[in-house]
Amino acid sequence: PQASVVDPAVELARRGAVMAAAQEKYYERPPQIERGWRELLIDTRGRSYVDMVNNVAVIGHSHPRFGRAVSAQLALLNTNSRFLYSALADLCERIVATSPDPSLDTVLLVNSGSEAVDLALRLARIHTGRNNVVALREGYHGWTMASDAVSTSAFDNPHAAASRPGWVHIVDAPNVYRGRHRGAGAAEAYAADLARLMDEAAGPGADLAAFISEPVLGNAGGVMPPAGYLALVYEQIRARGGLCIADEVQVGYGRLGSHFWGSAQQGVVPDILTVAKAMGNGYPLGAVLTRRDVAESLAGEGNFFSSAGGSPVGCVAGLAVLDVIRDESLQQNADSVGRHLSGRLAELTERHPLIGTVHGLGLYQGVELVRDRDTREPATSETAAICERMLELGVIVQPASERQNVLKIKPPLCLSRESADFFVDCLDEVLSEGW
Ligand code: PMP
Repeated sequence: PQASVVDPAVELARRGAVMAAAQEKYYERPPQIERGWRELLIDTRGRSYVDMVNNVAVIGHSHPRFGRAVSAQLALLNTNSRFLYSALADLCERIVATSPDPSLDTVLLVNSGSEAVDLALRLARIHTGRNNVVALREGYHGWTMASDAVSTSAFDNPHAAASRPGWVHIVDAPNVYRGRHRGAGAAEAYAADLARLMDEAAGPGADLAAFISEPVLGNAGGVMPPAGYLALVYEQIRARGGLCIADEVQVGYGRLGSHFWGSAQQGVVPDILTVAKAMGNGYPLGAVLTRRDVAESLAGEGNFFSSAGGSPVGCVAGLAVLDVIRDESLQQNADSVGRHLSGRLAELTERHPLIGTVHGLGLYQGVELVRDRDTREPATSETAAICERMLELGVIVQPASERQNVLKIKPPLCLSRESADFFVDCLDEVLSEGW
């Protein structure tokens, strides 16, 4: 099928008339994308763009094997998990096989990251019989009531910190580039902040259900916590009887290259792990991976059922994604192309003072732009303008972090070395235009 070419002004007006203003879009005038192939998006004029942001299309856009598998199952049957079909157990077994630890052996299937986080929080509260949750500043975990309550990023909601419910307690993100603690001993210093919060009279310590964070701070721009930080935090949380939730919706599923899961990369074993986005490659699919005893706590609350969660089509989609990641060695590609990209970005950093630092690992990286390397003043308007210029040159890249001054790099995991080079060359050219 061929998309009809639309007038952007007319299309945006049509949306405005029937959609909420809060609905996000890319750019002032989003391009009209008609088709995709691997890491490329192609617009209605036939112009192609390298897609550096779509971490959902993990195996690449329009993957034929994925399309064939999903359409064949859709044409055959789509029903729900109350019936027997082997794809359901197949997918759960395959997820358990990726588990960062044998203790995480039980899967619950849902339809999105928000749902997975919501369910994770619910499991933690039921299992512990407690209420309080500690979350990191600058995090995003979803839009449902519970996942939104633990989302603290001021970019997503300027009132997030002030309006959070009483059961949500927040601590600083362990950002060694611009946070409170930067040098040696930063991991211990951030963990000590948490210990102090737990001991406060109105703190979360007494009634602690869980700690939730991304293992690598994706929404903050791919920030890597200092080595040992999460281990210290998990130890403290467990000493108070809480559970540790790793939100792997963005950074898990092979994206970091060196490890399939971000928690494994950080050397910790969560009690509950959430995954979505990449898991369905755009088909709505999410999961909670947890210990049997934690999952069994749900039984006391009655039945668990999600109408489309774990449907035959969802399971076939999930299996096709895992097959392609394995057969096309996409985690290995994230590792090797990610290393190449890191090297090239490091070289760019030497020549362009606007680049303060480059965060991240594998195919989750963040180029942080600053007006002054000493004050680290965020180059927010410059970042937006650079994204617009990159679009003109044929690269889709977007700002991240609370300050919107980080170019987030989280492309499909099939990104070729040539496309990585094209991105860096375009960035080099744009930064050379003077900012
Ligand atoms: N957790 C994280 C870390 C996310 O980045 C997101 C989405 N950006 C979510 C949860 C929510 O996922 P979804 O949009 O699928 O509900």
